[in-house]
Amino acid sequence: MNIANWLNDAGLRCPERPALFEGQRQVANYASFVALVRHRAAYLVNEQGIVPGDRVALFMKNCCEYLELLYAVWWVGAVAVPINCKLHPVEAGWIVENAEARLIFTDGGQVFAPDTPLSGCRELDREDMGEFASTASTQLLTPWPRQADDLAWLFYTSGTTGRSKGVMLSHGNLTAMSLCYPLDVDPVSAEDAVLYAAPMSHGAGLYNFIHVRRAARHVVPESRGFRADELFALASGLGNISLFAAPTMLKRMVEQARRQGYGGEGIKTIVYGGAPMYLADLEDALDTFGPRLVQIYGQGESPMTISALSRELIADRQHPDWALLAASVGRAQSCVEISILDPGHLPLPSGRMGEIAVRGPTVMQGYWRNEAATRQTLVEGWLLTGDVGFVDDAGYLTLTDRSKDVIISGGCNVYPREVEEVLAQHPGVFEVCVVGEPDAQWGESVVAFVVARMAGTLDESSLNTWFIERMASFKKPKKYVFRSALPRNSYGKVLKTELRLWLKAGADGTLVP
Ligand code: AMP
Repeated sequence: MNIANWLNDAGLRCPERPALFEGQRQVANYASFVALVRHRAAYLVNEQGIVPGDRVALFMKNCCEYLELLYAVWWVGAVAVPINCKLHPVEAGWIVENAEARLIFTDGGQVFAPDTPLSGCRELDREDMGEFASTASTQLLTPWPRQADDLAWLFYTSGTTGRSKGVMLSHGNLTAMSLCYPLDVDPVSAEDAVLYAAPMSHGAGLYNFIHVRRAARHVVPESRGFRADELFALASGLGNISLFAAPTMLKRMVEQARRQGYGGEGIKTIVYGGAPMYLADLEDALDTFGPRLVQIYGQGESPMTISALSRELIADRQHPDWALLAASVGRAQSCVEISILDPGHLPLPSGRMGEIAVRGPTVMQGYWRNEAATRQTLVEGWLLTGDVGFVDDAGYLTLTDRSKDVIISGGCNVYPREVEEVLAQHPGVFEVCVVGEPDAQWGESVVAFVVARMAGTLDESSLNTWFIERMASFKKPKKYVFRSALPRNSYGKVLKTELRLWLKAGADGTLVP
């Protein structure tokens, strides 16, 4: 099934329902959303010669045209290649060439210099729509038929550890992913609104489908990005807002809400995920926004769908095991199975730590034109996530770390996440990130990069005292590095590789924090 059928159906069923909003201003109902998509689809086919299977890239900030273009691409059976708008044009150009995209839509149509080698890919302004007369093509009245395993979205990974790879997501993957949302994350009704505060090229954009299916509202902030005060004003004005937010965004929302005395009015649900959420930050978010939080754990290779931690559980701070459960990433979502594997890929019993593997209809078809990486990642029907964790007897999955981030010090495994959890609770700590450093005596030693709430107010001895009261001393950082901020990629994920490089180079004095 072509995922664009959901839009076609919503247009027929609920033509008058409000669909697209720029800020608080409605720009299309479902009938006009479909008409715009059909028109753009005709333009792609008649004026740009796009045929089913062609790749069409989108490299632009969030906007309503983003949704129109995505659906136009699927309507004609082509493949969307959404590129994070925060990437440098050189990085975006690499993706375009890797995907062999025929077209790339950008803000203004002049992002790439005319002599940029895009391998024949044409750059177009997102507003280019051709002539209205060309919509008459009858074959475009409904979406082009697609099979479940036909490619729909080439999802380029954030590449925190190297060159980004094109995750092949099919129409079937996107359908399965979307059906999990109302079952495992949050029920959706036609009265709801999804707000795109994070880049639509990734998690936030993936939540469009289920809201299209329900003929709910889609809201793009006027800033076309993330500004907490704007988001609160939109929520108060439009009501029933749901959004996906990375933990760093949630932290900024909490700070802003406290500054302006806002308590979450108009927000229905904040889905957080994509990076670890420390308990201290979760408690702050609960104090500020109340029971509006749901957690998901996923990765591009099984988008938004590995596990989910429910709103009820997150909010139930009286539960005797709350701290343990809230530090978990919840239970397997409805259409996937989770297994914890040992290094030989054999399943481990509950409670044992190993690599998290997933299988089910959300798992990607493979990496685009990268057989070697596909073979390493899809093994005997399982997706090897590269994340380490364990499942408890009740089925809750706890993520300890990415397998490559585990620190082996004196033969003992130290999971950076648990050290970070303890330090993050220190009242003087704003942010923390823990990595391993090569150590002649121990193999590796634990190093904590710390951002203080107030510069100059934290010292090593206070952190050490805090730590040894709470955790085994072999896990205690051997070194603290105080910084004013942590390096992050454009998705808000901390770049541990950069911190490790800094440690390496710092030893001979070539870099300073
Ligand atoms: P990406 O494919 O760029 O979305 O990155 C996916 C990775 O982010 C996962 O493999 C995890 O390492 C991490 N991640 C995703 N969700 C969570 C979560 N809820 N808690 C901790 N880490 C997460």
